[in-house]
Amino acid sequence: MEAQNPWISELRSIVGPENVFLDEASKYLFQQGAVDAFKRKPEVVVHITKRELVPEVVKVAYKYGVPIVPRGSGSSVTGAVVPARGGIVLDLRALNQIKVDVDNGIVEAEVGATVLDVDTECRKHGFFFPPDPASSRVATIGGALAENSGGMRGARYGVMRDWVLKVEVVLSDGTLTYFGESTYKNRAGYDLLGLVVGSEGTLAIITKAWLKMMPLPEKIVRIAGFFNTLDDAGETIFRIRREGVNPLILEFADKQGIEAANKVRGYNYPALDGGMVLVDVDGHAEGLEKVAERVVKIMNENHAAQIIKAEDPQKMNELLDVRAVAFTAPGHLYPGFIDGDIAVPLSKIKDALRGVDEIRKKYNVFIATVGHAGDGNLHPNIGADMNNKEEWERAEKAAREINELAIKLGGTITAEHGIGKLKEDMLLEQFRVRNQMPVYRLMKEIKNIFDPKNILNPDKYALGEEWNE
Ligand SMILES: Cc1cc2nc3c(=O)[nH]c(=O)nc-3n(C[C@H](O)[C@H](O)[C@H](O)COP(=O)(O)OP(=O)(O)OC[C@H]3O[C@@H](n4cnc5c(N)ncnc54)[C@H](O)[C@@H]3O)c2cc1C
Repeated sequence: MEAQNPWISELRSIVGPENVFLDEASKYLFQQGAVDAFKRKPEVVVHITKRELVPEVVKVAYKYGVPIVPRGSGSSVTGAVVPARGGIVLDLRALNQIKVDVDNGIVEAEVGATVLDVDTECRKHGFFFPPDPASSRVATIGGALAENSGGMRGARYGVMRDWVLKVEVVLSDGTLTYFGESTYKNRAGYDLLGLVVGSEGTLAIITKAWLKMMPLPEKIVRIAGFFNTLDDAGETIFRIRREGVNPLILEFADKQGIEAANKVRGYNYPALDGGMVLVDVDGHAEGLEKVAERVVKIMNENHAAQIIKAEDPQKMNELLDVRAVAFTAPGHLYPGFIDGDIAVPLSKIKDALRGVDEIRKKYNVFIATVGHAGDGNLHPNIGADMNNKEEWERAEKAAREINELAIKLGGTITAEHGIGKLKEDMLLEQFRVRNQMPVYRLMKEIKNIFDPKNILNPDKYALGEEWNE
């Protein structure tokens, strides 16, 4: 009987029986992330109420060789949070303390705090936290660091790795330590902080983070351009960056995504073949107007069919909402979702938009492409019926071809959503094409050093695969 396993008894004595869940409902709820394609029930769900408990729980997992998967809100779209070998799912959401240190420009956050909560706390002091995944209402700091998440402001401010100074971590044998320092600069030792960020819970469990924050901009203007062709939209994105405009956000949503947003929200935005390019410019009022004019000029030179310039919060939120709903469009319309998350060099953004559209037509599948286009990141998300074998196979072929397109254009198969289970074969494909076998070998050796018993989120990130040259 699982309830009598010695490791489960030990877990109960550490966190209290009320925080160890063996019931079917809990296992069901913690069996997957935000997509249905990957799931497996854990043997037990452990709720962590205090950071000090994490090392003790991990020591038990280490002693008995039980797999352990750290979990934030489970909004991963790649299966990264699925307990692929059962074992323990560690629910860290209750670790949600946040402290703003204005003097040092640092916000300290436990890993269960959401990205939005951290941003909200910073704003109370006249600052903000730049990384803003569209899922920031739910995405936890731990999950966002483990995924090295980006977001809309990535065009200007990059990803989580650019904003973290230090993390408290628990290693696979339960050792508690820190990577990094709470200073804006630090060159002491190898960059293990950079290594653990984006490692999807496979190297260590993060329990607390020291993050940088930025002063709030004085004013923001939001400009949406709607285009008749993807080439015009792509050229607009490229030229905005090429001509030195440094927008706060530079986003894209295609026709299918806008149509879905119109349908779901009752909006009436133009759903044209070239979709929407959404730009935020920020700064002091006078300079801001000049930058906004440059953006409008570039849009006009690229034949924008309609331009909307918004300064009032309601209209601004609505435009952002169109982009946000467009991301989830396949999920609204189909009982099956395949996440797309490619990045290409900026000069190739037009080719990527066109290429994805050709793949959409070739396989006759629903694809809504949105993206943080200003940093070359597109999310061509596919909707299909998982229960219809023929349709799902077409969707999977289209997904594979989109990743191959990214590789062909000199890009990457994942920009910010990571590998999880979804992209394992494509990661190896990218390494193969780029002759990066030594990189894969190093990854496996690093995993082995950090986690010799292979208990931390095992069977993910292609680490369980054999290299086949
Ligand atoms: C609608 C929607 C929109 C999204 N938009 C964006 C976007 O704009 N940008 C973007 O980058 N992503 C986006 N995502 C993906 C996802 O929300 C992010 O990856 C998010 O940061 C994950 O946070 P989480 O708390 O849900 O992590 P989880 O899904 O719980 O976990 C994700 C991974 O992190 C590991 N992990 C969790 N906590 C820890 C920890 N404390 N220590 C070590 N490892 C840990 C898990 O084991 C797992 O491998 C979106 C997802 C959805 C559903």
